Amino acid sequence: MAEYGTIFGAMLQEFDGAARILKLEPGIWKILTQPKRQIIVSCPVQMDSGEIEVFTGYRVQYNITLGPAKGGIRYHPDVSLDEVTALAAWMTWKCAVAHIPFGGGKGGVACDPTRMSRRELEALTRRYIAEIIEAIGPEKDVPAPDVNTDAQVMAWVMDTYSMHVGHTSTAVVTGKPIELGGSLGRREATGRGVMIVTREAARHLGFDINGATVAVQGFGNVGSVSADLLARAGARIVAVSDWKGGVQNPKGLNITKMLEYAKEHKTIDGFPGGEPITNEELFSLEVDVLIPAALENQITVENAGQIRAKILTEGANGPTTPDAHKILHERGVFVIPDILANSGGVTVSYFEWVQDRYGYFWEEEEVNTKLEKKMVEAFDDVLQTSLKYKVDLRTAAYIVAINRVGTVTRMRGMYA
Ligand code: NAD
Repeated sequence: MAEYGTIFGAMLQEFDGAARILKLEPGIWKILTQPKRQIIVSCPVQMDSGEIEVFTGYRVQYNITLGPAKGGIRYHPDVSLDEVTALAAWMTWKCAVAHIPFGGGKGGVACDPTRMSRRELEALTRRYIAEIIEAIGPEKDVPAPDVNTDAQVMAWVMDTYSMHVGHTSTAVVTGKPIELGGSLGRREATGRGVMIVTREAARHLGFDINGATVAVQGFGNVGSVSADLLARAGARIVAVSDWKGGVQNPKGLNITKMLEYAKEHKTIDGFPGGEPITNEELFSLEVDVLIPAALENQITVENAGQIRAKILTEGANGPTTPDAHKILHERGVFVIPDILANSGGVTVSYFEWVQDRYGYFWEEEEVNTKLEKKMVEAFDDVLQTSLKYKVDLRTAAYIVAINRVGTVTRMRGMYA
């Protein structure tokens, strides 16, 4: 097997723990721990200065047993084959846990979008997509937004692909603007899913989310929608932080006002409805629910011992290191793992793809009702598996995913 770095190594560590409990046979184990397809492309772009830059782009289809690969495109200077492969593997398990007919993929271009003009970004996007055009398509691989890519970038992806195939193809990519075949409810989907699994976990632990106390790290797409919907469900949001600072109020923050403040100031720092709080202080608050919804590796062996929340809902991808997770589990914190907790986003991406292929679009209420059903089922599948095998929810989520992908692999048999 090829040599990978630490990110793919972390994925394998989580996989192995679950596969061992499942007593997965060696053949399927080998298949599920190797990427199906890895593409590396050079993307020449004429910059505004007139000079030509060549950017390295990646697209990994980790596993396509359950359906087309699904996963975002990331623009960041640190993008590497190791990272993209690990993220594609996590998408495989996330789609399987969410029980949607997709495999796992991920793409990325090593670039610094903060130093590029809109024209340069469009040129890079179109060239990158042209370079991987044979590999993507509604039945093959369906990209989506990720770090530093948004609905506009997805519109360029859709247009580039459509120009190549000679007709408009909306289902090639999700996370598009509504006008271009995007789905109502997609923007709020990840935060809505976070709210739903948190509510279900509270119910399982014997308390009501109505009246529960919640702290949220990050007030972007995931954090702000999670906080808003939990507040609407009756929870008291006692602390929120973002890249610049944090605010706490034991009586509860007014999230509607905070959303307005964040829109105007591009941060929640200085929000008048509470007192300042640091990220470290936020993590050690005695609350019912803690939601990291910002970056990876926020909860480490350094601070895991200080966490006093009953439920930790991983809104972000990879916010807890594997060693920190062990500490949290030993201390009885009920961790809802990322591949379950933030799967609302990919679930509504699936709904977007379905609507595009039908050419028939649903009301927002229909999207939300279908998401609610999917999230409750996914939570219950993982919870029952954790009770059956007497394992934490992360291991249980992997068991559910490995079982689903493994079963279909076995049924399909070996093509030779
Ligand atoms: P975003 O860019 O909209 O928001 C990120 C938030 O984190 C911002 O409020 C930012 O200020 C804050 N932040 C950044 N650095 C911080 C720091 N050091 N301390 C505290 N806060 C900090 O991003 P998003 O879409 O909300 O994604 C957040 C996480 O959720 C990421 O891990 C992402 O991969 C994951 N995720 C997002 C989606 C989705 O649909 N948006 C789906 C699945 C997973």
